[in-house]
Amino acid sequence: MMQRQILESSLDNGKLLRSLGARRGQGKVSAGMQRRIDRWRRRLPDLIQPKLVNCMVPLRSAQKGRLYLADGGVFKGPKLARTLRDADTVCCFVATIGADLEAEVQRCMARNRFADAYVLDTLGSLAVESLVERFHLAHEEQMRARGRGVTLRFSPGYCDWPVLEQVSLFDRFGQERPAGIRLTETCLMSPRKSISGVFGIVPHGVDGSVADYNPCRFCTQRNCKARRAPAGN
Ligand code: SF4
Repeated sequence: MMQRQILESSLDNGKLLRSLGARRGQGKVSAGMQRRIDRWRRRLPDLIQPKLVNCMVPLRSAQKGRLYLADGGVFKGPKLARTLRDADTVCCFVATIGADLEAEVQRCMARNRFADAYVLDTLGSLAVESLVERFHLAHEEQMRARGRGVTLRFSPGYCDWPVLEQVSLFDRFGQERPAGIRLTETCLMSPRKSISGVFGIVPHGVDGSVADYNPCRFCTQRNCKARRAPAGN
């Protein structure tokens, strides 16, 4: 079921074309490129093995740009801490589509089939993003039904949460390779098509605008690729 939903989103031709760089609004590629895209979209189900592991950790406090977790863990990031400061629980997650797609990208590269490698790599990024987005949305719906809310999600290496914080995030799972994902010495994840992150669960009775807090509205970093709202909005 999860695989089918992820595929539906990843196979959205418009989203794929935008990710491939086709100009927004025009969304056109050559007939040859479209055939290439269609070929890899058909093969995608055989190349992904979606897995997601999560754990819920009560939040003790948020102060001075840090989140202090009840299990002793600390996450350091002022915007992260500001966004989750009214949460009572932090949902930590790691997700991956496995290593097969990545291996196929490498095979394409080795045969100088760079356009194939590019299309497949982009499909892989969309698939793992879709996996995480669906997980986050499912929690949002569940929490809303209980009068609670969820915050925006954050990943180490984005916004002001340093990539080295991966270590602290992975420690929360109490296992060396949650979802089969290994952390490298430089805190990158293997398989590469993996996403780790957190979001907060905001308790019943807290103003809904707290869950909707978005630091991007107040941020002046113009070229940030992770921006989720225009500044001053
Ligand atoms: S634009 Fe948003 S995601 Fe980017 S640094 Fe600013 S607050 Fe963080």
